[in-house]
Amino acid sequence: MESLNPATGDVIDTFDEDDESAVDEKLQRATDTYDEWHRQPIEERQRLISNAADVLRENKREYAETMTAEMGKPIESAVSEVEKCAWVCDYYAEHAAEFLQDEHIGTEPDVESYVSYEPLGPVLAVMPWNFPFWQVFRFAAPNLTAGNVGLLKHASNVPGCAMAIQEVFEEAGYPDGAFTTLLVGSDKMEDVIADDRLAAVTLTGSEPAGRAVAETAGSHLKKTVLELGGSDPFVVLPDADIEDAAKTGARARCINSGQSCIAAKRFVVHDDVYDEFMDEFAAEMESLTVGDPMDEDTDIGPQAREDLMNDLHEQVEESVDAGATVELGGEPLDRDGPYYPPTVLTEIPEDSPAAREELFGPVASVFRVSDVEEAIRRANDTTYGLGASVWTQDKRRAKEVAREIEAGMVFVNELVKSDPRLPFGGVKDSGYGRELSEHGIHEFVNEKTTWVS
Ligand code: NDP
Repeated sequence: MESLNPATGDVIDTFDEDDESAVDEKLQRATDTYDEWHRQPIEERQRLISNAADVLRENKREYAETMTAEMGKPIESAVSEVEKCAWVCDYYAEHAAEFLQDEHIGTEPDVESYVSYEPLGPVLAVMPWNFPFWQVFRFAAPNLTAGNVGLLKHASNVPGCAMAIQEVFEEAGYPDGAFTTLLVGSDKMEDVIADDRLAAVTLTGSEPAGRAVAETAGSHLKKTVLELGGSDPFVVLPDADIEDAAKTGARARCINSGQSCIAAKRFVVHDDVYDEFMDEFAAEMESLTVGDPMDEDTDIGPQAREDLMNDLHEQVEESVDAGATVELGGEPLDRDGPYYPPTVLTEIPEDSPAAREELFGPVASVFRVSDVEEAIRRANDTTYGLGASVWTQDKRRAKEVAREIEAGMVFVNELVKSDPRLPFGGVKDSGYGRELSEHGIHEFVNEKTTWVS
């Protein structure tokens, strides 16, 4: 497996892929470790996840540089990502015992009945390259603390991150086998998911990958949590603070060089404020610096892989051929590496990729609407349902609009973001199940009913 720097094209490192017997050995070790691990008192599991937070903070710069080198994330956001991983570890270190305590239910006199939350076993996490640490830690922190053990199949372009994450858990003092990286391609997943020793699987990534994993897991009756793509609407109503909306909108679109499932992708703007918003939004997009991801001043680095940028550009070209107008950007930059500029499209035809598909890069699709009902209709006019952002100073109306939007998360006057304290996940083709918060730690546990009379 090759670790390739998208900014320079250099090979950073190569890794030997795990063969069948290595995968078998790792699964067996995970199974054996689970036997001991899930009997550990919760205090011990909390102590270790707290250690993991310390290890992350101590080596923050090193891990951030590993991410930036492998997938081109601007260094400043890579550092923030490591800090956020430490936060989610701290969060479960503090709250896991409370989330997992027995829930007593008064059924009948002289009967003790309660629900206990017990781990399931080895859980496989198939993870993407875009937030190569965060996506993994938001799975691992609740699940290891709940008493499961984790197996990671990371995206093939970030093996260095995958190994670094395994080291975090080793350094934190976890027993061998509590968290294991499998260095394999996606073609090996079917066998791993089918294996009787594996209890459940979660995937963050594209819709086709999610469907493939869910199909295999379903045929073996294994629980899945899927966090797939999004085409999040960013709705701007007439009474919004336009300056704030435009500034935040540009940030929301271009976060992680535009490669985020919860990035704002479709801007739905009321006619009354359309021109004002567009002027400010285009200026904000244009002001973002594209460049070397190791440079602290860079806002947008290279796209993570050449093929991904080519796919993105094809979506833009197809939309333009169908009649969309390019207000800004629209062509890969003339320099080495897969650099794509901030791009704004308007007058977008209904069936073009910019209206229908997820655009995983710094390309904003802007739609003009004439009233709130049309804004809601347009916001929901997608097969996805991950996040949504609504901009208005009328909070009562904002809450009404939020209820009408088909999404797992709605943020008013704020960009959509993940936060350890809040459930994260989507509806429709964005997947199902929730990560983070108390909801996330309850996904891969046996909610066991006990009745004692
Ligand atoms: P993928 O969905 O292909 O990759 C995500 C993870 O799933 C990787 O670990 C990948 O492994 C694995 N995977 C892929 N196919 C299968 C399969 N059939 N069975 C099991 N595991 C599988 O994303 P890409 O990197 O190809 O990106 C393509 C598009 O996906 C992006 O442009 C974007 O639209 C979307 N995406 C969404 C993300 C999100 O956060 N929701 C994150 C990343 C991508 P391997 O790398 O070995 O193929």
